[in-house]
Amino acid sequence: MAAAAGGAAAPVCVLVLGMAGSGKTTLVQRLAAQLHAQRCPPYVINLDPAVRELPFPANIDIRDTVNYKEVMKQLLLFHQVMKFIEKRQNASKYVIIDTPGQIEVFTWSASGTIITEALASSFPSVVVYVMDTSRSTNPITFMSNMLYACSILYKTKLPFIVAMNKTDIIDHSFAVEWMQDFETFQDALNQETSYVSNLTRSMSLVLDEFYSSLKVVGVSAVLGTGLDDFFVQLSKAADEYEREYRPEYERLRKTLEKAQNKQKREQLEHLWKDMGSVCVQGNTLAGSDDASAMGPSELILTRGTLDEEEERESDTDDIDHEVTEESHEEPAFKNFMQETRMKYQRSSNPN
Ligand code: GDP
Ligand code: MG
Repeated sequence: MAAAAGGAAAPVCVLVLGMAGSGKTTLVQRLAAQLHAQRCPPYVINLDPAVRELPFPANIDIRDTVNYKEVMKQLLLFHQVMKFIEKRQNASKYVIIDTPGQIEVFTWSASGTIITEALASSFPSVVVYVMDTSRSTNPITFMSNMLYACSILYKTKLPFIVAMNKTDIIDHSFAVEWMQDFETFQDALNQETSYVSNLTRSMSLVLDEFYSSLKVVGVSAVLGTGLDDFFVQLSKAADEYEREYRPEYERLRKTLEKAQNKQKREQLEHLWKDMGSVCVQGNTLAGSDDASAMGPSELILTRGTLDEEEERESDTDDIDHEVTEESHEEPAFKNFMQETRMKYQRSSNPN
């Protein structure tokens, strides 16, 4: 991964985010087609398990593997993704990543965060937030969309481009005007009678700051218009990454590496401890007269504590489960054997 750092050949990772139906997949398809036409084929990664028919050939497709959650949990695919990108470093200028229709699956999941951070700490990365312009003509809807974008900006901490999509339906100039001219937006709000508008009014002040750090471009993924400007903004954003974000992410990468090593160590220790405690309890039970007093629930409790950390302990879960079940079935089995033996002895020695 270090190879990518500072190398001029490192591909720019374009993380395409946005609400379901905003046109992410269509835009990815359009961008890929344009880059192919320029003999600069991108590397396309589909992280959307919901897509039935891929309109573009994806180099890595999450549907080829297990289900999304499982893949993400184990982070296997993620390592593959990283390796593939590293391998393709000199072949592709761009890596374009399409994300799930349910945006929060990606942005607010642990795996999404891990993927974003790992990508961004290894490659110049940019977020493209796709917005359905035609569905944002209401000032309150528009602002909700912008607040969402804002939250993603702060969550990902990456250079950010807002792609105002579907400009074939409506030009995005109204939105640009709202972002540049506070008065115009207030006027639009005043048409609203909704109780939300007071809150919206104060929040739009907060958004002013956010707008100033945004790159906005109007596109039509369907027609392919606005893409030249899009690529201009993309390369500006990539420069911005190099200048302002890379140092931060390099620090993060070092922290992550340290944390991963520590976590591995802790997991092992945890596993040993749990296996140990289950064995001890098992022995106590086996030798105890009131085995039934210590019901399985107490043993399951051992597993319960593990459950909380199942996310990162999935590998150890099965092992623990086996040990747990064995240990609370074992005493019963032993008792049964003892009783049988005694019965047998009694019947063979009636005296
Ligand atoms: P995703 O859920 O964000 O991946 O959105 P899709 O790419 O699947 O697009 C959702 C719908 O919007 C589809 O019906 C697309 O045909 C349509 N769509 C996407 N981009 C545009 C565009 O630029 N203009 C118009 N008119 N429709 C679009
Ligand atoms: Mg999609």
